[in-house]
Amino acid sequence: MGAYLAAGVLGLAVGRFLSGLIHAALQEAPLGGAMRRLPGCGCRAGLWDRLPLVWWIRNRGGCRRGGHTVDAVYPVVELLTGGLFAAAVFFVGLVWSLPAYLWFVSVTASLGFIDFRRRLIPNRILLPGTAAGIVLLAAGAVLDDRLGDLPEALSSGLGYFLVLLAMNVLARGAIGMGDVKLAFMLGVFAGYDRWETAVTAGIGAFALAGAASVLLLVFRLRSRTDFIPFGPFMVAAAWTAAAWSLASGTGLP
Ligand SMILES: [Zn+2]
Repeated sequence: MGAYLAAGVLGLAVGRFLSGLIHAALQEAPLGGAMRRLPGCGCRAGLWDRLPLVWWIRNRGGCRRGGHTVDAVYPVVELLTGGLFAAAVFFVGLVWSLPAYLWFVSVTASLGFIDFRRRLIPNRILLPGTAAGIVLLAAGAVLDDRLGDLPEALSSGLGYFLVLLAMNVLARGAIGMGDVKLAFMLGVFAGYDRWETAVTAGIGAFALAGAASVLLLVFRLRSRTDFIPFGPFMVAAAWTAAAWSLASGTGLP
């Protein structure tokens, strides 16, 4: 229980950093100083504003300093990161690859939210995020004596990457290059358990995006020609597939 609590609190704190990072990425501002600014408007953060959710409650869901309204996405990011960290402890366990998974959910949560808001996956987070994630996973694999699982993980990432790349070439515009590059990291972390999990992650992304498009059309929230970002569905499907695989011991549901 203590481990979940510790992971949840750590996740909230990391989430505060991520909400600042996401805000900077959405503004195309420098990524440094994520803690020194209020997420959502960029005003200078006081000492208490560096605490997750506290800044949001203190400013009553807005920004008292400048009278700005704050996108509700930011407190959601912080709560979600707390939940994801606790879930990672539950599904991955207290092993050496856990830091890699905490990194993975942090990077992919940020990219999912940025894509959701801006329909864009910034390289300056995606590329270093992927590189560091793979280094952490490799280090975890060495310490957990699972070095033999790394080739399968990397080929899963490459497979997911190539499938989306083919779709990008064949169906222009439907799948962006950001999604193609994101697929590599998602495939690696899903496929570290077994390659079938990466397949489930890919199929799941299309199933989720398809279901969401139908719902949005039925409820007339989007028109047929509106573009729906694919990244958030890829991320959600990869998390779910990995959790399912780790919990059930089978790659396919
Ligand atoms: Zn403000």
